[in-house]
Amino acid sequence: MSAYEAAPAAGSTAAVPTHWYNIAADFPEPIPPHLHPGTKEPVTVEDLCGLFPRALAEQELSTERYIQIPREVRSVYGIWRGTPLIRASRLERALGTASQIFLKYEGVSPVGSHKPNSAVAQAYYNREEAITKLTTETGAGQWGSSLAFAGSLFGIDVEVWQVRASYESKPYRRYLMELYGGTVHSSPSELTEAGRAILESDSETTGSLGMAVSEAVEVALKDPAARYALGSVLNHVALHQTVIGQETIAQLARLGIGHADVVFGCAGGGSNLAGLSFPFLREVLMNKAKTRVIAAEPAACPSLTQGEYRYDFGDFSGMTPLLKMYTLGKDFVPDPIHAGGLRYHGMAPALSHAVHLGLVDAVAIEQTTAFHAGILLARTEGIVPAPESTHALAAAFQYLAHSDRAETIVIGVSGHGQLDLPSYQGFLESYQPPVG
Ligand SMILES: *Cc1c(COP(=O)(O)O)cnc(C)c1O
Repeated sequence: MSAYEAAPAAGSTAAVPTHWYNIAADFPEPIPPHLHPGTKEPVTVEDLCGLFPRALAEQELSTERYIQIPREVRSVYGIWRGTPLIRASRLERALGTASQIFLKYEGVSPVGSHKPNSAVAQAYYNREEAITKLTTETGAGQWGSSLAFAGSLFGIDVEVWQVRASYESKPYRRYLMELYGGTVHSSPSELTEAGRAILESDSETTGSLGMAVSEAVEVALKDPAARYALGSVLNHVALHQTVIGQETIAQLARLGIGHADVVFGCAGGGSNLAGLSFPFLREVLMNKAKTRVIAAEPAACPSLTQGEYRYDFGDFSGMTPLLKMYTLGKDFVPDPIHAGGLRYHGMAPALSHAVHLGLVDAVAIEQTTAFHAGILLARTEGIVPAPESTHALAAAFQYLAHSDRAETIVIGVSGHGQLDLPSYQGFLESYQPPVG
């Protein structure tokens, strides 16, 4: 059966889950606590309240299994959710695999990625607590545009520090942020102490997400009407993304498929993969399901495969809580690869914990391999995937090339790449196919 699970009529919330799933309730051992940067004691809700609204601070530390999605947030989700689950039969034929491949496609959101799933929730809770301004960082601009979009719906000013490498090479997402009403600065900037200190020691730096986080946090901490918003990594962000996996399980069930053998996703800060895979891991933890989860990260920023599992700061200047995570060190500045959203030194503590417990495996993918996978998807199913998402595709293709089993494979396609066409074009022009 060729199966395409279409979204319900626009504006309907019928297909949108009613709750977010919190895996902290089901891990066999608790996620190691975040530590206060000064005292090194586990952070409390009060500690986090200077940075985030109380509702999000509570979600960050919550161990409640299901958290209800506010009606207004579900209503906004209804603009694009549920997202399609696509049976990629043309791709299967091109790969010559006996497995069934399903793509969970988040590229249909207004900004073209999974990130509004959390941006909308975060803007909502900030509005509820009378916050009028949000500051944030962004890499390729996916998160900044998601938050600018969400801010426009909930009447919040959004100020974004964009990693310089992307600010200069990907102007379209800046235009998008500005179109939604956001303000965008190249990071490091002269506007913050953190930025000025970095520029003083290296005026040519390409920037990093860790540096941009420092700038956005500094500005939020100085303004009582402002809070900071993070687009990945933290528990509450992973939580919001679990609509992805819950929908996928329901969509597979409607096709009579009660189990996925392997779930693939790309991992930058870990939120889209957490969101897709944690509801599957619930089945593993509670019902002994045999689903494997594979995190695909770029070889240029290999926190899971090459990093250490230890406490580290989420930002460059050491202003955030200490997070127990796989990390390359907060000073790590990756090469400016095309998948800007994967250039983060650490990995979500919840996903890191799952890797540490052996529930998730990781592979590192070279950029060239990733682009090939993206081009194959475009030429079989028509979807131009985000450069980030191509890592998940490449990891799945490698797996399938070494397996002759007929399995059910789910690949998270976290976004579309239609604003990344210059990256694809650069690859097509420079790539010399092997002779013979
Ligand atoms: C930001 C981004 C990512 C990486 O972030 P995660 O938190 O690891 O999900 C992946 N894909 C797309 C399209 C992105 O915009």
